[in-house]
Amino acid sequence: MSSQRTAFVEPRREDARFTQKRRYQMLIDGKSVEAESGETITRESPAYADLVVSEIPRATKGDAERAILAARHAFDEGPWPRMSGSERSRILARVGEAIYEHREELAVIECLEVGKTIRQARGEMGASAEFWRYAAGHAQGLTGETHNSLGDNAIGLMLREPVGVVGIITPWNFPLLIGSERVPWALGAGCTVVVKPSEFTSGSTIRMAELARDCGLPDGVFNVITGYGDPVGQLLAEHPATDFLSFTGSFRVGQIVGGLAASNIKRVGLELGGKGPQIIFADSDLEAASDAVARSIFGVGGQACIAGSRLIVEAPAREEMLERLTKIADKVVIGDPLDENVHVGSLIHRPHLEKVESYVNAGRKAGARLVTGGERLSNVGNYYAPTIFDAVDTDMSIARDEIFGPVLATFSFETPEQAVALANDTQYGLSAGIWSRDITKAMRTIRQVRAGRTWINSAGGGAPEMGIGGFKQSGIGREMGHYGFDEYSTFKNVFMGLNPVSTPWVE
Ligand code: NAD
Repeated sequence: MSSQRTAFVEPRREDARFTQKRRYQMLIDGKSVEAESGETITRESPAYADLVVSEIPRATKGDAERAILAARHAFDEGPWPRMSGSERSRILARVGEAIYEHREELAVIECLEVGKTIRQARGEMGASAEFWRYAAGHAQGLTGETHNSLGDNAIGLMLREPVGVVGIITPWNFPLLIGSERVPWALGAGCTVVVKPSEFTSGSTIRMAELARDCGLPDGVFNVITGYGDPVGQLLAEHPATDFLSFTGSFRVGQIVGGLAASNIKRVGLELGGKGPQIIFADSDLEAASDAVARSIFGVGGQACIAGSRLIVEAPAREEMLERLTKIADKVVIGDPLDENVHVGSLIHRPHLEKVESYVNAGRKAGARLVTGGERLSNVGNYYAPTIFDAVDTDMSIARDEIFGPVLATFSFETPEQAVALANDTQYGLSAGIWSRDITKAMRTIRQVRAGRTWINSAGGGAPEMGIGGFKQSGIGREMGHYGFDEYSTFKNVFMGLNPVSTPWVE
């Protein structure tokens, strides 16, 4: 089955790191608990076929309700929102250190549950610890506004307050990283949270909450419930006791939870899918550009919301870019995610592999030219070859839909205006990249591209200082940076009279 061209490392099932299945409990009000039904969900590693690697409680609506009420009680009565910023900051910093100290354990959990490589997972754990540290540093200095120019008889304050109880629903691809882009900001603002990770990959989120508890976070401040989106995630969206819903996942589910949250006018943050354009001008450093494009779409098997899945290349550079990308695709080592030399692991599960295949078949049938890839790599696990299409029309499904697999669709352009039109020809607006040695041209182009997270002459990088979020149907709201604290804050207008009797209404 293995491709003639792509290097494949067969998954070795005898690795000592998965001789023991991990059995998790949820964390509600500071206690590790089972689901009230006693039911569980088992997770088979997508990389090692039928090998069960973890088991989580299958929460009921009743369990979710308990978690929400615990967070409500901790917010309304508990110490966390009433502590000084400096006390909260100290605890968040300790959690960051704990994540860093446990990074190898957390990386192995994600490697086995998600199917991503151990190298990739280690990098994400280090970044997650960094996010907690950043949020800790800034949680101490959160401020509102004063208005001292309202005349002699008044002074005004815009008091920053925590928004309240936050429900956080996360997807399967980067559980700890995405959790760490949200939880420390919500906690730093003084909120309490209930997190529902994906049913496929809950392990690292549970461990993160346990570490936070062990670092002194008060009971009920950080709860984790595990189970299916319907009913557990839905309850987080519609329950009147949650004040804010932060959802990260697909456009389809984002629409559902956004509608549910609207039923009681709670605030929502939605981080949804993408169909990222990568515009390559002919004057670019094509070696660096092709490396970055390949990493963006083939790394983690294309299962990243910010994957650059549309290559939009200036006509004179098209042949060279395709040649370079094909060479890189042939050199990518795919397979056993615990192997230190492997670049790309498995896709998340068999139905997803089949979905990727069906898109590739649709692309072929519609007349796009398959340049490389387009095949499974093993009967074990869910491995798919890096795949490139050329001669793609903008109305093909491979051009429009978020495939969430290692599939690149190529278009070419003659003028910068055409490049921008192609880049913006999508319902999504999550991410975009531009490559050019002419920085003025790159900057002028990026200003016209409608996307929330963009790169010039780089791809995929970021920093907790900088806010992230989507344009168009990729979402609403911003996480991280000072934007993240604003997201989880609300502002109270205090207009204070300094001479109340000076202007009586009735003489
Ligand atoms: P998904 O929408 O299927 O699931 C996301 C989460 O929602 C999971 O925890 C799931 O259990 C839950 N859920 C499912 N149905 C629900 C319902 N009816 N009510 C409430 N919750 C429900 O997404 P996924 O397959 O886990 O992740 C892939 C998607 O996530 C892709 O579209 C990707 O682009 C997107 N994503 C976006 C970002 C971002 O920051 N913009 C980051 C990562 C992934």
